[in-house]
Amino acid sequence: MNIDAMTLFPGWFDWFAEQRHVRNAVERGLRLEAVDLRAATPLSAGKVDDTPYGGGAGMVIRVDVVEAALRDRYDVEAEEVRRTRRVIALAAGGRQFDDALAGELAGGGADLTLLCGRYEGFDERVLEHLASDVVSIGPYVLSGGELAAMVVLDAVIRKLPGALGHAESAVEESFSPALEGAPEYPHYTRPVEWRGHRVPDVLLSGNHAEIAAWRRTRSRERSQR
Ligand code: SAM
Repeated sequence: MNIDAMTLFPGWFDWFAEQRHVRNAVERGLRLEAVDLRAATPLSAGKVDDTPYGGGAGMVIRVDVVEAALRDRYDVEAEEVRRTRRVIALAAGGRQFDDALAGELAGGGADLTLLCGRYEGFDERVLEHLASDVVSIGPYVLSGGELAAMVVLDAVIRKLPGALGHAESAVEESFSPALEGAPEYPHYTRPVEWRGHRVPDVLLSGNHAEIAAWRRTRSRERSQR
C-alpha cells in the first residue's frame, strides 16, 4: 500500500514514521510519505491560501493549490486521482471515522492520499471535486489535519499484515466484527490481588470456554452501558 499525507507541515509525520508498528509495516512493503502541499503551488512566494468570499475571519486553502499538488504528485488531472486511490480530506464536519472505515481502508487494496487542512480549512471544491472521502476523527476542532491523519493512519496501519507483534491483537478488539462492534472486555495481569481487588476467578480457572463466555458477556455489558 502507498500512503501520501499532503500537508503544509511534513515534519509532523517524522515522529509517526519512526514508530515500531509503522516501521514493521514499511518493512512489509508499506510506503508512507509526507508531501509538502506548498511545493507545487502555482502562487508566488509559496502562497497556498486566500481570504474567504463572503468575509469572515481566517484564511482558506485554495482549490487550485490542492489541484496542483495532486497533479504534480500523480501526473494525471487532479480530478482523476480519486478514481485510482482514496483521497481523504480531513475535516471536522466529515464522516465520523470508525473501526469499520479503518478496516475498509486497510483491506480495500487502494492506495491512500490524506489531505491535511489548516486555517479555516479547504475551499469546499476540494471536498466536492478532488476528495473521494471527507473524514472527521470526532466532533471537536483541531488546529490542523495532521493529527487527524495520523489517527486515521494509525488505525489503518495496525490492521496491515505484520504491523503488530501479535497479529491476533488486531482481530478481537473494541468495535471489531469479532466483538460484534462492542467495546473490548476487561483485561487483568499480575498481581492477582491488589489492595483487596482480585482478578475475577474465571480468568484464573484455565477453562477456555468459560473465559470466552465471560469476556463476551462483559463486552456486551459495556456496549449496553
Ligand atoms: N473552520 C473549520 C471548522 O469549523 O470545521 C475548522 C478548521 S481546522 C482549524 C483546520 C483543519 O484541521 C481542517 O481543515 C481539518 O483538516 C483539520 N481538522 C480539525 N478538526 C478536525 C477533526 N475533528 N477531524 C478531522 N480533521 C480535523
